[in-house]
Amino acid sequence: MTLAGRGAVVTGGSRGIGMAVARAFAGAGAAVVVAARTRDTIEAVATALRTAGARAWAVACDVTDPASVQALARAADTHLGHVDILVNNAGSSHSAPLRKTTLADWNRILTVNATSTFLCTQAFLPGMVERRWGRVVNIASVAGLGGGKYIAAYSASKHAVVGFTRSAAAEVAGTGVTVNAVCPGYVDTDMTRESVARIAAATGMPPEAALRAALETTGQRRLVLPEEVARAVLTLCDDAGRETSGETVVIAEGGVHR
Ligand code: NDP
Repeated sequence: MTLAGRGAVVTGGSRGIGMAVARAFAGAGAAVVVAARTRDTIEAVATALRTAGARAWAVACDVTDPASVQALARAADTHLGHVDILVNNAGSSHSAPLRKTTLADWNRILTVNATSTFLCTQAFLPGMVERRWGRVVNIASVAGLGGGKYIAAYSASKHAVVGFTRSAAAEVAGTGVTVNAVCPGYVDTDMTRESVARIAAATGMPPEAALRAALETTGQRRLVLPEEVARAVLTLCDDAGRETSGETVVIAEGGVHR
């Protein structure tokens, strides 16, 4: 598979799933803009990609801020010439019983997971449609396809991402641009480590038992690796993926299912 000549933007590219996607893109020959809020960490990722021979840049961006997203779009155009691929990966998790979920929690999670996907897609999609080639991949979650205890805000935000994906895909059908969502179960990243620590603190369970309890909620036997999510993203961005749009690709237990 090659993405040579393609320009890609990965939000939340400083660690976890986003970093694995940025590496996979660079490995496939794409030029990559790595975006997140913390400058040091995105610079470190971009530097490592360049050291490995790729074309990569770090652009600081808060995906919840429309002006910051517009600035990212301008910087990405400057660095890449044109943006062919957008991965809306930046996000945040939240777990709490409904009665303890505040309006501020709700707004924060909906904004960072769902509104950010709308803002970034709106910024990059017109250029893709104009050039009649583009790939938008939204990192949703299995929580975007089903509900669960204590994740009302997070699950609602990821359902919003899935609905947005299907609707945007319908709108650009026939233009050469596809919009898809990847829906992982628990992935081996800082986000999961923080979730497991929260479960352990709330229940008094040892961390290993808290991890097992978390995995039971999704029916996973093990954590998914960030590289497995990256592989699914890469597959959707390949030329062979041109017929796949509006789909949700579930990745749990390391298997990739549609
Ligand atoms: P991490 O917490 O490890 O990384 C999150 C990334 O998003 C960081 O690069 C962070 O950088 C960035 N980010 C957070 N807020 C913003 C913001 N406002 N603007 C720009 N960048 C931001 O998360 P994961 O890698 O685990 O998750 C990535 C995505 O995958 C998320 O959307 C998550 O919901 C989803 N997902 C994760 C699963 C898991 O089990 N880990 C399972 C299913 C889906 P910085 O803080 O510097 O901005």
